[in-house]
Amino acid sequence: MKDCIFCKIISGEIPVKNKVFEDDKVFAFEDLNPQAPVHILIVPKKHIACLNEVNQENSELLGYIQLVASQIAKQKNLEGGYRLVNNCGADAGQTVLHIHYHLLGGRIFAWPPG
Ligand code: AMP
Ligand code: ZN
Repeated sequence: MKDCIFCKIISGEIPVKNKVFEDDKVFAFEDLNPQAPVHILIVPKKHIACLNEVNQENSELLGYIQLVASQIAKQKNLEGGYRLVNNCGADAGQTVLHIHYHLLGGRIFAWPPG
């Protein structure tokens, strides 16, 4: 989608510092402003704005992202645990309106989150 920063990253128009994973459905890269020693964004190549746009057709893709997340977590040696976070909407702090999952690890996380 035009004017979407993550679509531009996926197409290569905007370079990323470190690509972590790519296949025909998903793109993963290091967050520009990391909140943990491991902070990777996992993004479907298809433009979906947020979880409110999930339907029968694209729900399988979001399930697949969780498989990719678990594989990246293994690759990054996050045996002790990690968080997979989706911010949906302004109240949750979503700033990029292309659905994405934050894979966070390498430190202890508090609960409840801020
Ligand atoms: P959210 O607040 O859940 O929408 O998360 C958006 C995330 O995208 C933030 O953690 C930003 O640091 C990250 N981000 C924005 N632009 C870039 C970029 N060009 N490369 C890597 N991460 C980015
Ligand atoms: Zn997009």
